[in-house]
Amino acid sequence: MTAVVIDGRQLAQRLRTECKPRADRLNAAGIAPGLAVVLVGDNPASKIYVRNKIKACNEVGIHSEEHVLGGDSPIESVLALIDRLNADPGIHGILVQLPLPAQIAPAAVIARVSPEKDVDGLHPCNLGALTAGHQRFVPCTPAGIMEMLKSTALDLTGKEAVVVGRSNIVGKPVALLLLQAGATVTLCHSHTRGLAAHTRRADVLVSAVGKPRTIGGEMIKPGAAVIDVGINRSPDGRLVGDVDYAAALLRAGWITPVPGGVGPMTITMLLCNTILSAERYAAKHGIELLD
Ligand code: NDP
Repeated sequence: MTAVVIDGRQLAQRLRTECKPRADRLNAAGIAPGLAVVLVGDNPASKIYVRNKIKACNEVGIHSEEHVLGGDSPIESVLALIDRLNADPGIHGILVQLPLPAQIAPAAVIARVSPEKDVDGLHPCNLGALTAGHQRFVPCTPAGIMEMLKSTALDLTGKEAVVVGRSNIVGKPVALLLLQAGATVTLCHSHTRGLAAHTRRADVLVSAVGKPRTIGGEMIKPGAAVIDVGINRSPDGRLVGDVDYAAALLRAGWITPVPGGVGPMTITMLLCNTILSAERYAAKHGIELLD
C-alpha cells in the first residue's frame, strides 16, 4: 500500500482562496480585518514565523501589524501593549508569538488578550468553551489538522484516534476536537507505557511530540490516517517530523509531509480566525456585509 499524501500547501491555498472574498466583503463595508502580531525578543525561528504570517495576511487582504518588544522587556510592557491592542477597534485578532523570554509568564500574557480577539484560541475562556463542546476560536494547528482529516472524507464516528503529545497548543485541543467528531480518543504523553500498543490501534494517529522517529512504521496501523505535527531539525539540517515518513508511506492510508503538511495549515487557520473575528465585529455593530 502507498499512502495518500495530504498536501498541506495545496489545501491551505484552497482555504485561502475561500478567505479572500470574505475579506473583500469586510473591506468593502469599511472594516479592514486586522491582525496584530506581538513578538518579544529576537528568536530567529519566531522572526521567520512572524514574517510568514504577515505575508499571508497581505495575500488575502488582512491588515497586519507587527509589534516588536526587546527580549529584556518586563511583563508590564507586554501587558500594556496587549491592553492597547484590545482597545483598538481596527484590530480584530491578536497573536502573541511563543515562546516568550523566560521572565514573561506566557499564561499571564495569553489571559490578558481579549477572548474576542484571541485568534490563536489559547485564552482559557476559548479553551474552556472547547472543553464544553463549543467552538469559539479553535487553536490554529488543531483546526488545521481537522481540515486535513476532513479532506480525506473519513467518517471519524467511532474511529480509534490516538494523539501523542498533550500540550495546550496542539495535543489537548486536537484530542477534544476528535472527541467532538465522534472518535474514541486516547491521549498519550511522555509517561505513557507501551506507546506502540496504543498507536497500533489508531485509525487516526496525530503525533505532536517534537522528536524525530517517535513513530516508527511498525507503530502504525495499516491504512491509518497519520498526521505529523512535529517539526524537527535532523543532523543533516533537513526539517523532519516525528514520524518515519518513508515507512509510513508504505503502511498508512494517509500521511502528512514535513515540511508542507500541518505548517501551512496553521497559518491559514489564523487567517480564517481573523476574518471570523472581523465578521463577528461587523455583526455586533450592525454593519451589513454585502455579497
Ligand atoms: P510540547 O513540547 O509542548 O509538547 C510535547 C509533548 O510530547 C508533551 O506532551 C510530552 O509529554 C510529549 N512527549 C515527549 N516525549 C514523548 C515520548 N517519548 N513519547 C510520548 N510523548 C512524548 O510541544 P508542542 O505541542 O508545542 O509541539 C510539538 C511539536 O509540534 C514540536 O515539534 C513543534 O515544533 C511542532 N509544532 C508544529 C506546528 C505546526 O504548525 N506544524 C505548530 C505547533 C507545534 P509530557 O507532557 O509528559 O512532557
